[in-house]
Amino acid sequence: MARYTGPVCRLCRREGLKLFLKGTRCFNKEKCSFEDRKNPPGLTPKRKGKISEYSMQLREKQKVKRIYGIMEKQFRAYFNEAHHHEGITGENLLQLLERRLDNVVYRLGFASSRSQSKNFIVHGHIKVNGHRVDIPSYQIQVGDVISFRDKFAKSPILEQNVNFAKSINRHPDWLSPDYTAMKGEVLALPKREHIDMPIKEHVIVELYSK
Ligand code: SF4
Repeated sequence: MARYTGPVCRLCRREGLKLFLKGTRCFNKEKCSFEDRKNPPGLTPKRKGKISEYSMQLREKQKVKRIYGIMEKQFRAYFNEAHHHEGITGENLLQLLERRLDNVVYRLGFASSRSQSKNFIVHGHIKVNGHRVDIPSYQIQVGDVISFRDKFAKSPILEQNVNFAKSINRHPDWLSPDYTAMKGEVLALPKREHIDMPIKEHVIVELYSK
């Protein structure tokens, strides 16, 4: 499974917004490096002026790939699938990304970031409807119940994540976490209005439609 292994805070500076890639640290103004360094990375000052349409489309695509921790080939496959579904391609694309198991575990508040969620899944700690699932891209369905292996459900890291999630109460309406039973249920499929990041999905569709 290919993944980005470089410095992640640099990606926030590159995209010009907080991508929330480092868990609780992202919510701490003193620890988040984007709070006081918002300029794009690189030694030479970037040229100011009008950016091209292509460059804007490319940045939008990179931003979404980085938020969800996805490489180009897989992202392209999501786009192709979204294009063949009924409805608006851009919204279909975001729904497919939101329905990934690693995103759902993160959104429920059981992981502090999508990359931590991915680790939990590939190490076999997560169950869907009582069966272990170790594929981060697994697409959840309405009614699915996400839980944990018994030993992991009592782990300090999970307890820490849950305490943090309770303090910020961030789960979206389509998911229902039960922090006492350490499980979460998918109540509905995500809609566009549930995605709280500033994403212009139509720009990505324009890029891939060239
Ligand atoms: Fe981005 Fe700040 Fe989180 Fe680093 S700590 S990943 S700069 S939001």
